[in-house]
Order: sequence, then structure tokens, then C-alpha cells
Amino acid sequence: MTAPIDATFDPPLGVCPLCGSPDVRSFDIDYRGTHISRCHVCRVRFMNPQYTDAYLAAYYAGYIPEGPRTPEARAFRLAQKTANIELLERYMAPGRLFSVGSGDGVELTVAKSRGWTVEGYDVDEATTRRVAQQVGARIHTGDLFSLPLETASFDCVYLDQVLEHPKQPARYLELARRLITPGGILYLGVPNIQSLASSGKQVLGRLGLSRRRGRFYDTFHHLFYYAPSTLPRLLEQRFGFRVVTVLGDPKPRSHPTVATRLWDRAIRHAPWLDSTFVVLARPV
Ligand SMILES: [Zn+2]
Repeated sequence: MTAPIDATFDPPLGVCPLCGSPDVRSFDIDYRGTHISRCHVCRVRFMNPQYTDAYLAAYYAGYIPEGPRTPEARAFRLAQKTANIELLERYMAPGRLFSVGSGDGVELTVAKSRGWTVEGYDVDEATTRRVAQQVGARIHTGDLFSLPLETASFDCVYLDQVLEHPKQPARYLELARRLITPGGILYLGVPNIQSLASSGKQVLGRLGLSRRRGRFYDTFHHLFYYAPSTLPRLLEQRFGFRVVTVLGDPKPRSHPTVATRLWDRAIRHAPWLDSTFVVLARPV
């Protein structure tokens, strides 16, 4: 994927957008010249300076929100979302689920078929209207933070591959905290910047041995970079959650073997190995 327009940037951030610390230090630079900072207190990394709202609006207007096109891609996505909801159901019975960034609505369809009452949110109006019809569920659009959503009205708030995109991830976590019922669960899935693969590539990048240094940051559209060692602690120390579990998020396989099953089970329980991880947390 390439940037549709020339990138423009805000003034640099002098304060960590997640924990508020002013101890923000330069950490890395990718092959496109994008600067990455790291907060010295919560250890989260983020693009700094960040893209302007105008750049991001133009970038996301170029997104094709149709969902996967080939039958194989659709089957993969269905298997992936089914695995996510099955994981969630190990910790809670189906109830009311709110998916932020519900996109093509696959997880809403899966959850609904398993007894959940579902609602979604996404930015593109035409897509949300179409998906709402397909799924048979309410999907909100507009300003997420102005929606008339009642406090403690969802048993699960679900954000899968969302929190790395917005400029104000703290507001998403605060909203989730407000919306989840006591005893409910926050489902967070994000890329792992400290996966074994990314950590190795980072070393190669620093040594000048990588042709596209820091490509794993995905700076075309990822602004924040989390790890199993940073995000769960932030949830507990800053956002009023108690972490239930942190897990790797193995991809579904069309032809699993004994070896791949064993490997997938290993990375499920060793999230630092995997390229994405899942945090389940309950409000305190
Ligand atoms: Zn911080």
C-alpha cells in the first residue's frame, strides 16, 4: 500500500499521548524518514511528529472498505474473526458487544450468530449503512466521542487492529472504560512491535543491514506501536482496567499440520513471539 498524497505533519509531540509524561525521546527512524519516539515512562513508541488530520482524512478516503474479495480471503477473515470471538467466550458468556472499527462487519456477523447482541462503529458512512443492512445491526458513524452511548451499556468493547491508528488512543481506552459493564471485558488486538521478527529487523536496521529499515512500523497508517510489555501495564496504571490475559494471536491456517498446531499453541501462550497480540481486561 502506498500513500495517496504527500504526507504533512503536526508539530512534534513533547508529551506522551498515553501516559502524559514529558520524557519523550527519539528512538528510531524508518526507511521513509519517519521519526519514531519512545516514551521513557510507559515505553510506548509513536510516530513523532504525527500526520496532520488532513493527511489522515485523505489517506483513509483512499481505503477500499469492501472487505476481502476472493473466497479464500473471505474464508480466512471469517476463520480469524471466529477464533477471536471463541477466545472471548472462554472468558464470558455472549452479551452486548460494541465493535469500534467494525469495517466489513465480519466479527459482528460471527458474534451475532453465536448469540451476541451487536453494535458497531466506523467512519465511512456509505460502508456503515451497507454493512448495517447486511448484518442486521446498528452501526454508528460520525464522531465516536459524541455518540449517545450510555455508560456501562456493553458487556464487551472490541477493538481489533484499531488502537495503532488514531492520534488519540487514550480517548478510545477512556471511552471503552466508560461503556463496559462491571464484570464486562475489553478486547484489544494490536500489532506487536517487539515480536521476535520485528526485534530482529530492528537490530538489522540499526546496523544498516536492512534495505527498508523499520518497515514493520507500517508508518503509512500506524501511529502507535505497542508490545505485551507496555500496553497491559498502561491499561492497569492509567485506564482503570485489570488485565485478565495477554495472548498471541496466531493466524488461521487452511492446511494445519501437527507441527503448525503445536507452534500456534506455543505462540498463543508466548505473545512476545507473535506479530500481533490480544489483551483481555476487565474494568476495576
Ligand atoms: Zn508514556
